[in-house]
Amino acid sequence: MTGPAVAASSRWVDEEGVREPGGSVHAWQRGTNQTLCGVPLHKAGLERFPHVLWIDARWLADTTEERMVLCHRCTAAAGDRGDRRRWTRHRPRP
Ligand SMILES: [Zn+2]
Repeated sequence: MTGPAVAASSRWVDEEGVREPGGSVHAWQRGTNQTLCGVPLHKAGLERFPHVLWIDARWLADTTEERMVLCHRCTAAAGDRGDRRRWTRHRPRP
């Protein structure tokens, strides 16, 4: 898995039973105790979603009817990589 994962203020479960982030959604780098924009997870009551990539959360927010509000500061900090295919195309060839 590449890129930051997600921390969020609430959760919901999709049709496949996977725990998904909801409410206030931030980017979170695994192994750290704060979001990409600098909010301490425990202080803000944010739950970790190590199985959900930030770029997937961005796609999810556009397609789900669940309430997901992506943090603008995390969006800026993570860079404009919302489209996985566009991102892949930018990767240098080996
Ligand atoms: Zn944030």
